Amino acid sequence: DPLTGTDVRIFPAPMETELLTVNPAAPEPDRIARAADVLRCGGLVAFPTETVYGLGAAALNATAVRRIFEAKGRPSHNPVIVHVADADEARTVVAAWPEAAQALAEQFWPGPLTLVLPRRPEVPDAVTAGGPTVALRVPSHHVALALIRAAGVPVAAPSANISTSVSPTRAAHVLRTLDGRIDLVLDGGPCPGGIESTVLALPHDGPPCILRPGLITRAQIEAVLGREVVVSSGTPQTSPASSSESASAAAPLPSPGLLERHYAPHAPLILASGDGRTVVQSFAGQGFRTGWLAFEDEDSANLPPSVHVTAMPRDPAGYAARIYAALHDLDALPVDRIVASRLPDTDDWAALRDRLKRAAVPR
Ligand code: AMP
Ligand code: MG
Repeated sequence: DPLTGTDVRIFPAPMETELLTVNPAAPEPDRIARAADVLRCGGLVAFPTETVYGLGAAALNATAVRRIFEAKGRPSHNPVIVHVADADEARTVVAAWPEAAQALAEQFWPGPLTLVLPRRPEVPDAVTAGGPTVALRVPSHHVALALIRAAGVPVAAPSANISTSVSPTRAAHVLRTLDGRIDLVLDGGPCPGGIESTVLALPHDGPPCILRPGLITRAQIEAVLGREVVVSSGTPQTSPASSSESASAAAPLPSPGLLERHYAPHAPLILASGDGRTVVQSFAGQGFRTGWLAFEDEDSANLPPSVHVTAMPRDPAGYAARIYAALHDLDALPVDRIVASRLPDTDDWAALRDRLKRAAVPR
């Protein structure tokens, strides 16, 4: 609770969750209108975005936003991202719109970049966790955009899953943890991006700072701003070029939850520091059913039947699109251990290293 500093988790009474399928390329206006009505009435709607499924509520309705926290069991000190239709709507909830925000919005919106800016007083404390800033983005998914436009209001939406569990990239993943806790799920098929947006703070008195790495890389942001972007110390270094001096030069910004266990499957996840196959064989030898997130060109032949191999793409976009579904699928088998082959050390893999590192934090 932002006022008392305590970690409040209250789960609501079970309810009926409605499921509506929508065409992801051309969402049916009547179905979008139905979902928008639910939002305007203070209800909770899960919807696909280009990153993961979001759990939406009318962002300026404090009661509705508090229902998100109840449904997810999300600690109230973790603020939520507000989704808007365009930069003009973003400007209605912020107290300042710096040039950097304008340049980044022109380049990356709609898309998976979230900007953290000073908030206006009408943004409820529930959205910002009582803090002075609000996080904003314009999603590019047709269903998300149509829903926000039809609702006519900013939509607060964290990922549509119980807090700390694996993020949902399919409607079935949403139902796995939120069925009976939310009003409606719009099923628009798999999310193309597969991992959460990049969260970038734009403080008035310091360098832009990546609070959470995502699909848009540090290099892409630096190219637009023409200046150095620092990475929050809670975030793994993005490349050999990103020196630890530059990261520690960043003023410590509020980014709750950055070091906690997050995005985690039920089975313990182990990140192989060397050869993944050797680690997999060792677990299998101890009698564990073992899932292996191997690269598709790795040798996965002649392993025991207790090993389930998931072939992952060698490119970060392809890997991101599949990672959460792969973790959901391995949990559903189930397996006792999940081993991930070591990811490359380059900037374009930073967001994926971040997600796997957090998912591997032990219970
Ligand atoms: P999720 O809701 O799962 O997509 O996570 C949202 C992320 O955005 C979390 O890491 C939050 O801590 C971060 N976030 C949201 N609002 C703010 C804010 N005002 N300042 C800093 N980080 C924020
Ligand atoms: Mg989340």
